Amino acid sequence: MKTYQHYINGEWVEPSSGEWFDTENPYTGEVWAKVARGSAQDADRAARAAKVAFEGEWAEIRPTQRGKLLVKLAEIVEREAGRLAELEVRDNGKLIAEMSAQTKYLAEWYRYFGGLADKVEGAVLPSDRPGVFNFTRHEPLGVIAMITAWNSPLLLLAWKLAPALAAGNTAVIKPSEFTSASSLEFMELVAEAGFPRGVVNCISGMGLEIGQPLVDHPEVSKVAFTGSDVAGQRIYESAAKKIMPVTLELGGKSPNIVFEDADFEAAVMGAISGIFAATGQTCIAGSRLLVQRSIHEKFVKRLVEVAGEANIGDPMSLETHVGPVTTPPQYQKILDYIDIARDDGAKCVLGGKPYTGEGARGKRFIEPTIFTEVRNDMRIAQEEVFGPILSVIPFDTEEEAVEIGNDVVFGLAAGVWTSEIGRALRMSEKLKAGTVWVNTYRAVSFMSPFGGYKRSGQGRESGKEAIKEFLQTKSVWIAQQTTAANPFIMR
Ligand code: NAD
Repeated sequence: MKTYQHYINGEWVEPSSGEWFDTENPYTGEVWAKVARGSAQDADRAARAAKVAFEGEWAEIRPTQRGKLLVKLAEIVEREAGRLAELEVRDNGKLIAEMSAQTKYLAEWYRYFGGLADKVEGAVLPSDRPGVFNFTRHEPLGVIAMITAWNSPLLLLAWKLAPALAAGNTAVIKPSEFTSASSLEFMELVAEAGFPRGVVNCISGMGLEIGQPLVDHPEVSKVAFTGSDVAGQRIYESAAKKIMPVTLELGGKSPNIVFEDADFEAAVMGAISGIFAATGQTCIAGSRLLVQRSIHEKFVKRLVEVAGEANIGDPMSLETHVGPVTTPPQYQKILDYIDIARDDGAKCVLGGKPYTGEGARGKRFIEPTIFTEVRNDMRIAQEEVFGPILSVIPFDTEEEAVEIGNDVVFGLAAGVWTSEIGRALRMSEKLKAGTVWVNTYRAVSFMSPFGGYKRSGQGRESGKEAIKEFLQTKSVWIAQQTTAANPFIMR
């Protein structure tokens, strides 16, 4: 059986506790590897190594060279994309059909931010003071703790690691305890690219046992976090005690809104991809489908038809559309929400139970499920489920669609399906979400900022502005001639 140690200061090291935990293949339910169960001691070791690197060798490396290292990493990621994809499928249960493209695409984040590394420029300010030269420098923050969720480990990591390294920071990564393997294995690629030791470290274990001590560690200067709003809030509170900046990429309850003038079939496919792709385990899931009443009945009928034909089963098969749920607690949570929806009066028109048919192994399959007669104040419409459960809510007017769409605590993403450009523009302005898609869904890119409004988060990942999340600005004042001025008056 494979074992994964911590990667600290360029070396594979045993957990100081001597403890390990199992990682399972969600499709088969079989344990396929053992992962180091880290503690505060391991977090300390990694944070110190990252700090030494930050102040030592890494600080000596010019931005152009940092960029070249990131571009080299991009090339290695491309070369290893197939292996990384299979690893994500084994540890996570994601579809190979999706992961093959996604792992290849990861390289673009490293390439893009590699290119940006030596384009971080300060400014010479037109000072209002005579005899003074004033300019700004943008400097790295230090050691960044990167804590990620289980649903897309390598993608969520790229969103943090690429801009943070480009900006000159060092990293301690803590992947989810459910899917640690790919991030740990990624360290081999980092080493091959030639990053100095200690610049990138990866430790594994439980959130409270190693994640929290990492957040609290005095050498950690920022946390870049992706996960639930509950853990995000706790990390934000801990960061407040240290007056430490955070980036928080949290949950969502995104509305996918279909108007009667939309391309009907494109909207059906968009609604399905919004919720059943990745078995609904995506932060951007379009879990609330708002459909204009005039087409509601016909739309639901077609949805049920298409979703009902989805192939459920082996994530390694290219024919599979819906794979297993990644973790046992998540599987139970989804089933609980199905009961909650029924108890609250929603009507189940598709699925609503575990899938045990052809192609199912282990105990992690849930049928694609659609609820109608959902009111937006029901728990199934307000709370993030993170599974293949769609709530359909009818609306009459554009104003009502906006009102329902915005009436949740989250604001991560929203979809709009319409053939009218004016409506597309109005909706994209009025929806309170970090991303609005019109006539498409689930599109992300290394060059487009991503992040949440409201309880969905804080800060942005991807796009040029993401590098600023890992920089701080220094203003430098140089007097052109020295004078012994009155010391009791502010200059
Ligand atoms: P989670 O919050 O349970 O765990 C996320 C990570 O935080 C894990 O690595 C965990 O070990 C760690 N952690 C938990 N408590 C901690 C603490 N007190 N201190 C430090 N680390 C701690 O989330 P999850 O179940 O892994 O992921 C699902 C959630 O992630 C969903 O809410 C989903 O919407 C969200 N998500 C958001 C985005 C986004 O970009 N906005 C992307 C993917 C997933």
